[in-house]
Amino acid sequence: MQLPPPLREGLRWPFPPGLADSLRGRVITRFERRGKYILIHLDDGQALLMHLGMSGRVVLGHDVSVPAARHEHLLIVTEQGARCGLVDPRRFGIVDLLAADTATSHPLLARMGPEPLGNGFDAEGLARAARARRTSVKALLLDQRVVAGLGNIYVSEALFRAGVHPERMAGSLNDAECTALVASIRDVLTEAIAAGGSSLRDYVKPDGELGYFQHAWRVYGRAGQGCPDCPGPPACGGVERIVQGGRSSFFCPRRQETATVAQDLS
Ligand SMILES: [Zn+2]
Repeated sequence: MQLPPPLREGLRWPFPPGLADSLRGRVITRFERRGKYILIHLDDGQALLMHLGMSGRVVLGHDVSVPAARHEHLLIVTEQGARCGLVDPRRFGIVDLLAADTATSHPLLARMGPEPLGNGFDAEGLARAARARRTSVKALLLDQRVVAGLGNIYVSEALFRAGVHPERMAGSLNDAECTALVASIRDVLTEAIAAGGSSLRDYVKPDGELGYFQHAWRVYGRAGQGCPDCPGPPACGGVERIVQGGRSSFFCPRRQETATVAQDLS
């Protein structure tokens, strides 16, 4: 693996010192994902840690002569002629280099909760995390320490399917609701992965193709439209949008009724 000098000095934080030298000549042994982080394992026991931030994407190609694109801040080329660029217009992404066997204690990964599609995520664990929380269930599910990798869109979709209002006080969730949430989260993610993810604004997959899950959103981005749960002239009055912690939430006021509202500090 050859690596040209970093095209910029860093993203959210500076690139690790000597990054190019550390990667030159190494062999990529495997890829791993943890929450929203990508780990590229190398043959010397190190791993390149990446987070795409708000707007980052990895662009894969097979023509190493292609010049760096606008906002392509890191470019990795292999001796086999593969080209892997990290494009990040807003530069909120993260790149770090670490010893792979210390990955679980890395500050960004150490407190991360279970993978939503793994065995470590279950209703009992979610109920435990929710108990005594004075935040909303929306904030609970976006908390990467509770469950790893969920973002704004998928939380909205999962809450709709589970019939839980986004402003519900997390501590008021009962066992049945925790069970429904775990199932809904898994269903939404499984369907989204099968559809290639959601193409929002400029998101594309590494091969340049768009994901199609945005066409399957039931409430996200559908404020004022009828929701799939209330056919005909919408019995609920249509999907509603609120802002929580600076992020939009979409819900059906009939299916996702609430009595106990949590006001998150934003
Ligand atoms: Zn509805």
